Amino acid sequence: MKFSTAFEHLWMPFTSHQEHEKYPPIVISKGDGIYLYGADGKRYIDAIGSWWVSTFGHCNPVINTAVKQQIDKLEHVLMAGFISDTTMELTKILSGILPKSLSKIFYSDDGSTSVEVALKIAIQYHAIRGDDRHAFVALGDGYHGDTLGAMSVGAISEFHSLFHKRFKEQYYTDSPYCFRCPVHKKKENCSAECMDSLERILNQHGKNIAACIFEPMVQGAAGMRIYPPKVLQRIFDLCHRHGVITIADEVATGLGRTGKMFACDHAEVVPDIMCLAKGLTGGYLPIAVTAVDEKIYDIFKGAPKSNRTLNHGHTFTGNPLASSAAVAAMKLLIENQYPKSAESTMKYFSKKLLSLNDHEHVAGIRHLGFIGAFEIVKDKMTKEKFPEEKHVPFKLSQIAAEKGLILRPLGNTVYYMPPFNITTEELDMIFALTKECIDDI
Ligand code: PMP
Repeated sequence: MKFSTAFEHLWMPFTSHQEHEKYPPIVISKGDGIYLYGADGKRYIDAIGSWWVSTFGHCNPVINTAVKQQIDKLEHVLMAGFISDTTMELTKILSGILPKSLSKIFYSDDGSTSVEVALKIAIQYHAIRGDDRHAFVALGDGYHGDTLGAMSVGAISEFHSLFHKRFKEQYYTDSPYCFRCPVHKKKENCSAECMDSLERILNQHGKNIAACIFEPMVQGAAGMRIYPPKVLQRIFDLCHRHGVITIADEVATGLGRTGKMFACDHAEVVPDIMCLAKGLTGGYLPIAVTAVDEKIYDIFKGAPKSNRTLNHGHTFTGNPLASSAAVAAMKLLIENQYPKSAESTMKYFSKKLLSLNDHEHVAGIRHLGFIGAFEIVKDKMTKEKFPEEKHVPFKLSQIAAEKGLILRPLGNTVYYMPPFNITTEELDMIFALTKECIDDI
């Protein structure tokens, strides 16, 4: 089949037109476990779980069967006045996984919409109580999605700065990036001083701030910046003191990815609101969750047309096909006791990652559960980056693709997000190929 004419009609996400014209996307027609197969038959190892969603590998037979069975039963039903039995089943399963206090589950379509819902709930919660809090505080360099509300709390300048002009009152802390610590601390003497910035913001503007949103433990899109539990604990302490709702965006980190069920578990904290998406369906279909503390839900109890109804919903909310994939993925998670049962694989993964440390251009290696990353640097001692015009990360992904490995560096950070059922042999292949790629470049 010839695709060349279709390329001309595509506007690809996160892709410059120049890049698109020079390097058309690789057309994929089949998936199996960690592998994707090009339309030309070439095999690629998907080391990044197709944007961090593939938790049990591509075309997992269990999830495949569940979706096939669902499609012959019911494809969709509106979720107001009605709900599919499969979405009911999913709700029951999730209520058993989520922290007890997060007992109310609102469905939407993807990570961005789960964040929109969380932000709206936070503002309306305060409004119902007669408290006009309309601002948000978020972590520096954070990412919460690409819809306007989600972007208002995002702080990656390349993505967000143009659009920030629309939002009057937004606050951003320092980014807790330990490899390039914003307050020049070392691991040994860190007391989460990067969150002094949050304290300053809350002291000055706390009364206007409805909620604080953060990616717990790992700032994904910023470059898999993994930070210590004490930072998260400090965020919670400060927010509690100022009556600010805590929104944990676990879209990327939730449901086992970081080696615990939720990244918040590393710091033994429970947020007021939690967002989940990505791995919820094992990467099959879009569906997302905004899980809310019962105390917040209770404030919304009121008559129709009062200001107590959350007027939010999407056409495909609670879609039965997506729900069936999520039910199957959550059963795989529970029945196989992930992430605990994958502890030895996670250890092996971190060992392989650390073995890259000998390389003169590899620095800042970090890992948590099934997330691993490092920076490609020009000078390991000074942490100096390669000049941008050398396009080192882009070239690295090109070389990797030629060798049959899918990597998509974030800035100069190379990262991995393998499925939980990856084997040690498959990890060996990924890291052998990575070494070759770095040497080549
Ligand atoms: N929050 C986080 C932490 C994310 O990493 C992402 C996506 N990378 C989103 C929200 C947005 O999710 P989606 O792309 O499904 O809208």
